[in-house]
Amino acid sequence: MSHPFEILFEPVQIGPVVAPNRFYQVPHCNGLGYRMPRAHAAMRAMKAEGGWGVVCTEEVEIHYTSDLMPYVEGRLWSDSDIPALQIMADAVHEHGALAGLELTHAGHHSMNLYSRATSLGLRSIGNLHYHPGQTRRMDKEDIRNVRRWHREAALRAKRAGFDIIYCYAAHNLSMAMHFLLPRYNDRTDEYGGSLENRVRFLRELIEDTKDAVGDRCAVAVRLAVDELLGEEGITHQGEGHDIVAMLAELPDLWDVNISAWENDSAPSRWEKEGYQEKYISFVKSLTTKPVVGVGRYTSPESMVSAIRRGVMDLIGAARPSIADPFLPQKIQQERVEDIRECIGCNICVVGDLLAVPIRCTQNPTMGEEWRRGWHPEMIAARKSENPVLVVGGGPAGLECARALGQRGYTVVLTEAHRELGGRVALESQLPGLSEWRRVVDWRLTQIEKMDIISVYPGSSMSRTDILEAGIPNIIIATGADWRSDGLGRTLWKPIPGYDLPHIFTPDNIMKGQFPKGRVVIYDDDHYYMGGILAELLATQGCQVTLVTPATLISHWSQFTLEQERVQRRLMKLGVALFTQSTLDTIHADSVILSHTVSGSLSEYPCDAVVLVTDRISNDALYLELAPDLARGKLASLRVIGDAEAPNLIAQATFSGHLAAREFDEAPQEGIPFKIEYIGL
Ligand code: ADP
Ligand code: SF4
Repeated sequence: MSHPFEILFEPVQIGPVVAPNRFYQVPHCNGLGYRMPRAHAAMRAMKAEGGWGVVCTEEVEIHYTSDLMPYVEGRLWSDSDIPALQIMADAVHEHGALAGLELTHAGHHSMNLYSRATSLGLRSIGNLHYHPGQTRRMDKEDIRNVRRWHREAALRAKRAGFDIIYCYAAHNLSMAMHFLLPRYNDRTDEYGGSLENRVRFLRELIEDTKDAVGDRCAVAVRLAVDELLGEEGITHQGEGHDIVAMLAELPDLWDVNISAWENDSAPSRWEKEGYQEKYISFVKSLTTKPVVGVGRYTSPESMVSAIRRGVMDLIGAARPSIADPFLPQKIQQERVEDIRECIGCNICVVGDLLAVPIRCTQNPTMGEEWRRGWHPEMIAARKSENPVLVVGGGPAGLECARALGQRGYTVVLTEAHRELGGRVALESQLPGLSEWRRVVDWRLTQIEKMDIISVYPGSSMSRTDILEAGIPNIIIATGADWRSDGLGRTLWKPIPGYDLPHIFTPDNIMKGQFPKGRVVIYDDDHYYMGGILAELLATQGCQVTLVTPATLISHWSQFTLEQERVQRRLMKLGVALFTQSTLDTIHADSVILSHTVSGSLSEYPCDAVVLVTDRISNDALYLELAPDLARGKLASLRVIGDAEAPNLIAQATFSGHLAAREFDEAPQEGIPFKIEYIGL
């Protein structure tokens, strides 16, 4: 019988090279880059091992005038940068995949904070990120230089062993895209004005690259075919279409998407699988060259459908390959239920935007391949027959139980509620977060397959219950509750009035106790919870006001690329927004707002207050059991996840995974991971 997803495993010719299948890890940032090349190579190699036929770098700076610091990307400024990338290409090749490299000169996007070179732009324009510097307007010699640097970097990429070399014109982040856009390109020479002139630079880059490396390497173009800006930008019915038509047969591969990055990598709260199809599906009608597209595909049926419908030839993925580097292999082995599906939370994106190593909510091994030697599918076998009792079935407890079971330990998992999943079971019912449920579903599916894990829902454990259970190894994963007194990052004393009856916490609301009328939400958490409760209550007819000490609504969600969407939605729903404000006092029918800078006070009427501030760990059980460990009644005791320290769901799955890996192992002295020192 033929394989149900056979088409996904067909090889695809890309210029002079052949991709072994249609699984294509498109370029994606990761915060490792040139600074942690071994970690970077190991992370990419894991995807090749897991069956991705093509594995690409992130954007790679071609020259020191394109210095993207503080962001950590790839670099090919000189020959000295070749070895760091060569180890990635070699590692990817070891598993039979092709290695791709995305060259870029970032133009006015680069601030050159390290190189201190003058930034180059099509006109003298302020750097992105509100950095108070401007570019020099490029002259013809500058253009010739950038072309030369691009060519030289392409030759270095070839020497490093890469098979596919990109010309990058997407995300509004590269000079080749800036040339296409009249809002940046006001040139009056042959590089400006008509579309043909604005396309000239990209055309030349493709020709230069083909000329330099095209004998052995495929030359790909990454192009934004729609910016979702209407007439202000590229559209797929307008210039996006025309650019592809003009260059149709020139590159060996078209990698097409929407811009800017927040549109391309939209979280699941805003866009669902396949959301880019309507923008990119025209491309294949204009070219015979293979087309790759993205859209957070995690289901093989959707992938096959996208290919059969002629939307794309190769299934591009960044996030699905991060959440599950072994996604292709699992499809090939018809183990679709084992796919650890991306939940679309964008915690992976935070790594790039905060210039720290990538991490993933679903895949706790992401970024840990080299420094901790973690493999997403393999784990050390058990060291003893010791059984383990895990108390609490949230993301930390579930991951810990699952990974202990994978090691071969006998595990008893107890959960106070009838439904497993802890905070994820609750939060995934909030507007737009249904895909977050995958954190629980994947773990439960895996746990159900293991006879050695016994799950007891509806079993709230006390100290006595635990001691009577007779299992001497205890892992406490009892989570945390939202505070109801207002203490948090900003306020260190309870807000006067916090004990009035019309005060709510996110826990109250998620458990179905809803405020009515005029509701003030005080958000000192700064991620999704405050904004999402405002949305929920506004759609239920409350008159909502969101108050935050930060300068932005849902401040931290800018790092998951959704701050503007959150704010836009709240504005549309008529939510009143107050930034740089705290609650000074809560009265029965009003609150007193305090401005964080001026200290000025103002009274604001309301019928209910929701406090979204710090959380309190449920660590009482752990603290009660600690003396039993000291007295030798228990062999081991560990607290993990939010019960240890409230944090992201990503930290809970990591914490559970770490505890499972470390169980029964000798404690390590010193730093528990390898550190990369480069250039010494
Ligand atoms: P984390 O993010 O650390 O996994 P959660 O709050 O999501 O934390 O999950 C903690 C889970 O632990 C919740 O489902 C909660 O019902 C459960 N729990 C808390 N105390 C007990 C207890 N004494 N016995 C069993 N389960 C408990
Ligand atoms: Fe997907 Fe979230 Fe993992 Fe990123 S961090 S790959 S969005 S699950």
